[in-house]
Amino acid sequence: MTSSNSFRIAVLPGDGIGTEVMGPTQAVLDAAAERVGGFALSYEEHPGGALHYRDTGTALPDESFKGAEQADAILFGAMGWPEIRYPDGTEIAPQLDLRFNFELYAGVRPIRLFPGAPTPLKDPRAADIDFVLIRESTEGLFSTRGTAKIEGDRVARDVMEITRPTCEKLFDFTFRLGASRKAAGQPGQVTCIDKANVLTSMAFFRKVFDERATAFPDLEARHHYVDAAALDLVRRPWDFDVMVTENMFGDILSDLAAALVGGMGMAPSADIGDKHAVFQPSHGSAPDIAGQGKANPLATILSGAMMLTWLGERHGAESAGEAARLIEAAVEKLFADGAALPYDLGGRDGTKTITDAVLERL
Ligand code: ATP
Repeated sequence: MTSSNSFRIAVLPGDGIGTEVMGPTQAVLDAAAERVGGFALSYEEHPGGALHYRDTGTALPDESFKGAEQADAILFGAMGWPEIRYPDGTEIAPQLDLRFNFELYAGVRPIRLFPGAPTPLKDPRAADIDFVLIRESTEGLFSTRGTAKIEGDRVARDVMEITRPTCEKLFDFTFRLGASRKAAGQPGQVTCIDKANVLTSMAFFRKVFDERATAFPDLEARHHYVDAAALDLVRRPWDFDVMVTENMFGDILSDLAAALVGGMGMAPSADIGDKHAVFQPSHGSAPDIAGQGKANPLATILSGAMMLTWLGERHGAESAGEAARLIEAAVEKLFADGAALPYDLGGRDGTKTITDAVLERL
């Protein structure tokens, strides 16, 4: 913090719609800060992304990395572009580098159906969808990312790495979240999603989960195999409260979960470590709609609200938490009023209309 309750935010808009949703998000954050008072945000924008790599040969310049490191929080748009790739064929994804370098082990993906927002599920209990998926974001099946080799054009190996220190921090974070949700009226159920019946690494993941669960006797600790979890996320997602899983499983399940509440444009996320945190929408740069003003900004706006909650808790700045709740309430009201509906939810309202509708309701 530069001074009391003045937060420095590193802004990395990135590629495609990442650049289109960032301005609107800052406008909403500023409006909420002004409305509540008691804290302020200052922004420093940094370059990076696939187009930056194409033009300069670097995906995330050192200065951007340093700027992010020095900030109180990092607001990230989206980076990546299908045709622009590293020589090994993988996509440009500096967000993964930030997760690894800043040890952002807890990928927090809240999934909540706003009343009035469309869902593909017909069951009326879908109205009760409100859970958080925690994706471990620094190891698991992503552990050999960028270093795995194809051996003799015959075999390729990626390694599932699960370490005790990361698991302990991850599960403690997850149980603490379960406890704070329980205090707010949620069931207090934490489910470990794994493949402990087949993979030794996943049996170890479950073992450490069970060990840490003993420190939280007020919460119900449960297990679910990842394949069954995919089934139940479609069949009865309202039964989940907090879920925690390995990196790749979380990557896949969080997209599935986003589809339940309207799609990627409705899915905020936070990658949280002990010192740093990156807040970004779950979606990518969406080249198919980039430049058309059609991007749904709500995922990024809600990620911005998560950032305010995190800053508020970390620095004891209650006003920041209050501003976060104001933003969430404005989004809720947008759907309750039926005021505007983004393209990706079947509506005809673009980035600007949706942003204006949120600002009006603040
Ligand atoms: P990545 O792997 O980089 O996360 P992705 O391959 O999953 O990206 P996205 O860029 O997230 O792909 O896009 C997936 C689909 O969702 C596309 O059809 C895109 O247009 C749509 N989409 C993603 N985000 C939004 C948004 N904010 N508003 C509207 N549509 C979106």
